[in-house]
Amino acid sequence: MTAIVTGSSRGIGRATAISLSRLGYFVIVNYRSSKAEAEKTKEEIIRLGGRAVTCMADVSSEEDVKKLFETARSYGGADVLVNNAGVSYIGLLQDMSADEIKRVLDINLTGAILCSREAAKQMIPKKSGCIINIASMWGEVGASCEAVYSASKAGLIGFTKALAKELGPSGIRVNCVSPGVIKTDMNKELTEETLAELSEDTPLLRLGSPEEVAKAAAFLASEESSFITGQVLSVNGGITV
Ligand code: NAP
Repeated sequence: MTAIVTGSSRGIGRATAISLSRLGYFVIVNYRSSKAEAEKTKEEIIRLGGRAVTCMADVSSEEDVKKLFETARSYGGADVLVNNAGVSYIGLLQDMSADEIKRVLDINLTGAILCSREAAKQMIPKKSGCIINIASMWGEVGASCEAVYSASKAGLIGFTKALAKELGPSGIRVNCVSPGVIKTDMNKELTEETLAELSEDTPLLRLGSPEEVAKAAAFLASEESSFITGQVLSVNGGITV
């Protein structure tokens, strides 16, 4: 059984790749620029007794996505796809260039759609499969100064609900994990003060770890969630969305 985790060179993607490997999946560790980090994810999986390969692909490129899924085909085709690759942009909307807007939407939303399209082609003949989209609580409640990021994640949630209906009859489940604030490189530009405020706003009074998001993704990829599709599983320490 083969799992693709986009953007698994670092952060939530890396933890998810390791979790899926623990479930027995052969993992395709996708990255765009962090080759050495992707190799580290692969080495860690192998150290834990699993199997993995790395594959460079920019999820916003149709050609790269096709190449990623050709790799998956050579390992029996994708059984699980985790659309995790993502970028953030913090700033006022009026300061964003059209290219910056396009980049966030192309990676976070179109990238997940392109990958899901290729995954569906491999999963439908098998009459089984799981697609898990890593959204964000900002896609549910909206974040000031992250309007385009929030829109990309809200779009991903809508896409999840629709695709779950479309692919359900083919035995394919599609769900979202919607994290709160998680300690990864994505938040490294936030000041200590801002991170402390975000912790205080969280009922559990702390930020989450990549491993805590990975556990939810692994649950949605497993038989334990066999009757769950089209859902948004919040992993956010209790913030009301
Ligand atoms: P991160 O540490 O910045 O890692 C981002 C990952 O995405 C990296 O592996 C990166 O690979 C990959 N990536 C970026 N652009 C890509 C592209 N065009 N093609 C392929 N891979 C690409 O971020 P993270 O915090 O783990 O975030 C992972 C996901 O969780 C994102 O979708 C993010 O929006 C979501 N999320 C994060 C938080 C949070 O607080 N951290 C909260 C809610 C949701 P390279 O380095 O190789 O380019």
